[in-house]
Amino acid sequence: MIELISAARCTGCNICVAACPTNVFASSLSGPPVIARQADCQTCFMCELYCPEDALYVAPTAGAPLGLASEADAPLPLGTYRAAIGWTPATAANRSVDAMHAVLSAK
Ligand code: SF4
Ligand code: SF4
Repeated sequence: MIELISAARCTGCNICVAACPTNVFASSLSGPPVIARQADCQTCFMCELYCPEDALYVAPTAGAPLGLASEADAPLPLGTYRAAIGWTPATAANRSVDAMHAVLSAK
């Protein structure tokens, strides 16, 4: 389940808002998006996958929120899922092969 957005890392690009299939986030004009509907999270990790700043933490436990207060409380480093599937800075040039990445990144 989505647990937190790091205000220190987030640039407010709102890619996660567009990527989420269940409309969990609400965009904000003055800062990071808000986790507005946490109970609707499907733990699909799409927000973490497409966030360019590793600013989100999605816990693999889907049943109930962990109630994390800050990034320091996250059991794993932010961006762990994205890195585990191979989307690292070293492979950034390959991301254009993913059509969804191209759509979400186009502004
Ligand atoms: S995708 Fe990442 S950087 Fe962009 S708004 Fe969402 S959390 Fe912030
Ligand atoms: S894990 Fe999936 S459903 Fe949950 S907030 Fe992220 S994109 Fe939305």
